[in-house]
Amino acid sequence: MTDLSALPPGSGLRGATIPVLRERGQREVFCGLTGIVWLHRKMQDAFFLVVGSRTCAHLIQSAAGVMIFSEPRFGTAILGDRDLAGIADANDELDRLCVQLLERRPDIGTLFLVGSCPSEVIKLDLAKAAERLSAQLLPRVRVVSYSGSGIETTFTQGEDSALGALVPLMPRSEARQLLVVGCIADVVEDQFRRVFDQLGIGPVSFFPARRAGDLPSVGPNTDLLLAQPFVGNTARALEALGARVLEAPYPFGAEGTTEWFAAAARAWGVDNVQFQDVTRPLEDRARKAVSRHVARLSGKSLFLMPDSQLEIPIARFLNRELGMRLIEVGTPHLDRRLMAAELPLLPDDVALSEGQDVERQLDRLRGAAPDLVLCGLGLANPLEAEGFATKWSIELVFSPVHGYEQAGDLAELFARPLDRRERLRV
Ligand code: SF4
Repeated sequence: MTDLSALPPGSGLRGATIPVLRERGQREVFCGLTGIVWLHRKMQDAFFLVVGSRTCAHLIQSAAGVMIFSEPRFGTAILGDRDLAGIADANDELDRLCVQLLERRPDIGTLFLVGSCPSEVIKLDLAKAAERLSAQLLPRVRVVSYSGSGIETTFTQGEDSALGALVPLMPRSEARQLLVVGCIADVVEDQFRRVFDQLGIGPVSFFPARRAGDLPSVGPNTDLLLAQPFVGNTARALEALGARVLEAPYPFGAEGTTEWFAAAARAWGVDNVQFQDVTRPLEDRARKAVSRHVARLSGKSLFLMPDSQLEIPIARFLNRELGMRLIEVGTPHLDRRLMAAELPLLPDDVALSEGQDVERQLDRLRGAAPDLVLCGLGLANPLEAEGFATKWSIELVFSPVHGYEQAGDLAELFARPLDRRERLRV
């Protein structure tokens, strides 16, 4: 069990010096538009209008699926040839379309204009458009903009950019408070809130909130606890307003979740006995749920391709709680500060890589012949065809996987592909 008076696990170890293979080459990842899928589910008064091409529209529609019973809260303003050639005034068109949309949809309180590769190529200034439209539509609707373009980004950065666009609009506060940063499922938010209450930590806000318009406040007495490892720019923007990041592993698995709460408990001076009383039964239950998958996963080798930026915490969980052997842990970007509490928890012999040169990485993968590969959708099918068992990393952001009660489900996500193979073999 975690003892609040002891140093956090991994303190003082070699996390800062762990060697990293850096690669720059062809990458196989989705673009930041993908984030709309989970962001629009979370922020129920938000609409995401992608300003892009038919390709962007197809991507977002196929990623989000078709909503049958409700009107979708995302769409694409398709830039036509006349816009791309600079013949039509795309700004006028965009303003007209936004006003029309908002007249038709009184449920929308925040409109995100989402930039794409085509809108960036023609240098359509969406920040200016958002300012213009806000001036016209406030206080009923707030319009903000960010880029989801696929140039030099990975798909989870879309969330970081969306949240970053909201930071300047957050009210300021001097009050001591805890702010959980990163989009998590409502069910997980409720569970986390209950634990913070029992620990006597509060007030606690979540960013993003269920309604985009309910922006939490921030200031010099705000502690930040990051729920997702890909919100680095948002965290830096909040720090610039005086908030401080509490260093912690991410709340994946029983251990990670306890250590995440422990970081807040230490900062808020929670009594050790109270901490044990609250977290021990939850952690025990989570460990029991995880243990059901140990027989399937223990000793199996895992290769993590760089895709979601969740690779390091997930590798830590699978190695420490399920006994999987890590062959290579790839991450699109390594932010050592945000990973300071995670890196020392990886095994000594871990091969860590940052960025991607996909062909070279695939050669390493084939050479190692892992039992399971965590990768993006674009690589999963070809690798399955070559005989590898794969797990789509995008499932880690589409399903609730944070916290104690989801720890067993998270383990199951990785056990399932191996189970399926076993059954097919019989
Ligand atoms: S934003 Fe760029 S990478 Fe993403 S779907 Fe549109 S064109 Fe493709």
